Amino acid sequence: MPTLPGGQTAAMRFGVQPEPVTDDDDAIRAGVLDAPIPPLLASVAHLTGDRSILRDHLRPDLAKILEPDAGYTAELLDEARQLAADALIRHRDAGSPASPVLDDIALRNLVEFVTGGGIVEDTLPIYETELALDGADLRRPTWSVDPDASSRTARVAVVGAGMSGIIAAHRLQQAGVRVVILEKNADVGGTWFENTYPGCRVDIQNHFYSYSNAQTPDWPQHHSKQAVLLDYFRSCVDRFGLHDSIRFSTEVLEARWDDEASQWQVDVRGPDGGTESILVDAVVSATGQLNRPSMPDIEGIDTFAGPSFHSARWDHAVDLSGKRVAVIGTGASAVQFIPRVAEVADDLTVFQRTPPWLLPVETYEQDVPSSLRWLLTHVPQFANWDRLWIFARTQEGLLPLATVDPSWDGQGRSVSAENDMVRELLTMYYELVFPDPDLRAKVLPHYPPIAKRVVLDDGRYPMSLQRPNVHLETDAIAEVTPSGVLMADGTLVEVDVIIYGTGFRASQFLTPMRVVGRAGRDLHERWGGDARAYLGITVPEFPNLFLMYGPNTNIVINGSITYFSECQAQFIVEAVGMLFAEGADSMECRPEVHDAYNELIDAGNRERAWGVSSVNTWYRNSHGRIAQNWPFSLVRYWHETNTPDPADYILR
Ligand code: NAP
Repeated sequence: MPTLPGGQTAAMRFGVQPEPVTDDDDAIRAGVLDAPIPPLLASVAHLTGDRSILRDHLRPDLAKILEPDAGYTAELLDEARQLAADALIRHRDAGSPASPVLDDIALRNLVEFVTGGGIVEDTLPIYETELALDGADLRRPTWSVDPDASSRTARVAVVGAGMSGIIAAHRLQQAGVRVVILEKNADVGGTWFENTYPGCRVDIQNHFYSYSNAQTPDWPQHHSKQAVLLDYFRSCVDRFGLHDSIRFSTEVLEARWDDEASQWQVDVRGPDGGTESILVDAVVSATGQLNRPSMPDIEGIDTFAGPSFHSARWDHAVDLSGKRVAVIGTGASAVQFIPRVAEVADDLTVFQRTPPWLLPVETYEQDVPSSLRWLLTHVPQFANWDRLWIFARTQEGLLPLATVDPSWDGQGRSVSAENDMVRELLTMYYELVFPDPDLRAKVLPHYPPIAKRVVLDDGRYPMSLQRPNVHLETDAIAEVTPSGVLMADGTLVEVDVIIYGTGFRASQFLTPMRVVGRAGRDLHERWGGDARAYLGITVPEFPNLFLMYGPNTNIVINGSITYFSECQAQFIVEAVGMLFAEGADSMECRPEVHDAYNELIDAGNRERAWGVSSVNTWYRNSHGRIAQNWPFSLVRYWHETNTPDPADYILR
């Protein structure tokens, strides 16, 4: 893979074939040293056909995923690595033959090994889908438009060419549906195009934060930087052949359903500023939740005399070196850029309202080690099996640790004995990385872990807060003045630059677009600031409108948003197929189905730490309802979205 300065990659490779093993024994033994054991053994067994290395006592125990090395002792690690290396040495000696074809039994053996066994029969397909061996595309549409049947075609507008829009458009195009992608930016990538702040990277491991049908062994880091993610999504647009379907610098102003014509009229403003109407049979909104920056409601922010900007609109023209800088906010974005600002600014004051829980991840900013690169070159299937391993670990993930025990009295600091154990473990980390008790008292959260997004940390953020040029303010901000930030106690912190790491207007789904459904119904009036949808995808009174990353499809502690987007994209293309199959022009979610579903979601969220804690969080909308999060497992969402049920819809 060509690597550019800064770890940026030029173009990602897909469907990479294994290179023959020609190295000496020592190099092979070194090549297996950094790989997690379950995917290491599975991928080597897959490559070599030697399943004798999948010893029962080397299966992972998913109850131990939080322990170092997922609970493998040093002896077990040694044994597993030796088995893998010996098998690779035999493979080399045999001339690196092609992998034998995996029959169903062998595949199941391998899947059961990586997932720790005990697969419920009907979940095997989703494991196979995520694994996507040999580039298998098991989410491919089950139907396609018959090009000869000129009587029935479909055209769909996808709003947004970010992570979710790309996969939705790809699935529709695979089925032969004509797609026009309307992207307000001049490039693809959405959040990965817009967020260019220093230190920006993904907090989900890349082998999982990627599409199942576009896996690449080319990630330079486990949690790659923004530029690499952007390259990945550009590479996917090329691979999926979507480029010609995208209209860049084109913003959707309004979408209006015409009941008579069973079509949406989509009004857009194009690159030249002119407006135009596009007629389509369906609209897919893929505008994201973390798309519109939220500026804080602090008096006087417009009066500041110096430069100021939001983290998602980073002003790279502002040289921070030698400056006095204020950062407002300590969420996931700010924790990534504060250490970088601290390195260049003369003086940095961090204004914290609620401290985040930091989760230590040693490899967070590390390069994929050369040993793992060796493995990915010679055993590229490792990437697939590693993805399955991550999926197995996160499909339930830490959900049980966020589950509320109604009999537990955690005094607002934990929601169950298990959650309290996490609090204690994380507190130990704070004791280690914040040795000064005064500073620790300021940064240690007093709300339950997992009630807010847990922020990954490799020690860099705590170190930055302890630099002599960095100060942490935890008192309330009264106002912003022309020269700085005035605290409630009357102290004025004079600064040259203010950076707002204050998050996004996540609850305001689909804004500022106007969406008008059947009988002139306005979507934002219907929602009244409390967005709801069935499966996060369809809304009563809005026929043929499909949402990607809609209400209650965000996850807090388990899984990856790309997984949800893949489920939604599959659902949407099958829903369009259902329209064709049923000979219908439109489908509209039944209100009773929508309402019952949302009650279930609300009940589920009330059982999680984020649903009961009163801590500030972007998960809660102005009505106090958790409008963002999916409270259940990943497999459950797949079950729910696998195929649309015609009984849930009014088909016309
Ligand atoms: P955020 O988590 O919403 O954090 C916003 C921060 O600004 C919070 O500390 C908040 O304090 C503070 N704030 C907001 N209004 C304020 C005010 N009026 N006065 C003082 N402080 C104020 O936003 P974010 O950091 O941009 O992250 C949003 C989400 O994006 C994350 O949860 C994550 O899902 C995603 N993200 C992911 C990554 C990644 O993959 N690594 C990186 C960045 C973001 P309170 O906590 O008190 O509200």
